[in-house]
Amino acid sequence: MTGPIPNPGILDIAPYVGGEAHAPGADRLIRLASNEGALGPSPKAMEAYRNLTGELHRYPDGTAKALREAIGRRYGYDPARIVCGAGSDELLQLLAKCYAGPGTEVLYSRHGFLIYPIAAKSVGATAVAAPETNLKSDVDALLARVNERTRIVFIANPNNPTGSYLTARELTRLHAGLPEHVLLVIDAAYAEFVRTNDYSSGAELVESFPNVVMTRTFSKIYALGGLRLGWAYCSSNVADVLNRVRGPFNISSSAIAAGVAAMEDVEFVEKSRILNDENRNWFVEQVQALGLKVHPSVANFVLVDFSEQLGQKADPEAARQLLKSRGILVRQMSSYGLGNCLRISIGLREEMEQVVKGLADWVHG
Ligand SMILES: *Cc1c(COP(=O)(O)O)cnc(C)c1O
Repeated sequence: MTGPIPNPGILDIAPYVGGEAHAPGADRLIRLASNEGALGPSPKAMEAYRNLTGELHRYPDGTAKALREAIGRRYGYDPARIVCGAGSDELLQLLAKCYAGPGTEVLYSRHGFLIYPIAAKSVGATAVAAPETNLKSDVDALLARVNERTRIVFIANPNNPTGSYLTARELTRLHAGLPEHVLLVIDAAYAEFVRTNDYSSGAELVESFPNVVMTRTFSKIYALGGLRLGWAYCSSNVADVLNRVRGPFNISSSAIAAGVAAMEDVEFVEKSRILNDENRNWFVEQVQALGLKVHPSVANFVLVDFSEQLGQKADPEAARQLLKSRGILVRQMSSYGLGNCLRISIGLREEMEQVVKGLADWVHG
């Protein structure tokens, strides 16, 4: 190669491809490919965003103090141990940059979120995938792959795209099996959707141990993905490390303002969660009635498995294309090694009715 040569690992990265946002020819779009909250953002968050236009010439508060305090009030966390990022993606990448590197390993679960291997390779570390059991992270399989080179274990809980989760007990057992030098990163991007008694976002582990980080996002239940906003709750040591390397103004003033209003609009979040529960339960029943398999999900998306319906020639691509021809966008899963599946976000009831209609036509056609 001539010219500048990127660092080792960079060219091994398969670029992340987001959910589709266009369906040429369709007169209306039903966008169910990126798990964006069905209701859109809280009206209060949108108002706070609009009210900021007179301040656009000012730099934001680089410490995002108002936002960290709003999060702290909402959950009872110490704002000094909260670090905000331009999406939780930025925080995951920063953690990889600070704690992993050439000669080290970053561990994740086989069908875990694709950003984990990307973050690992981008800093020259080796991404190691542990096998799953029934599309669920397997604590023993993860622990069996920990060695002296391991620096980070990334776990999405619940996981995207499988919708499965580790219980609080399983998370505790995973943490207990890790050496102290390994950082456990619990990516709880969908935590607000989950209400099962055996689930924990991981905050208690953060409070008890210096080697646990929990990350959260405003992109999913808060539906503010366009603003790029996430946060991490961690020990003061990890917070100190992240604050040294993040951009001094990594969060925009509009994201801070909208984020505070969204965090305080507790009612809106609750309404979104209840709607998601209702629509997901309804949708799962309908899809199962068509003879398709749906993997159990506690989040705002489901993984529909076409392999039983299709037998040998399982390829849900035709179903996806049929939906797309009607303006319905869902997510292809081959990059996750789940080529038999489509991931479908839970939208409004009318939107889910259109999806069911489309799938029914595909099954019967
Ligand atoms: C969507 C998602 C995120 C990232 O969200 P940001 O928009 O970067 O905050 C992180 N983790 C998982 C598992 C996700 O699905």
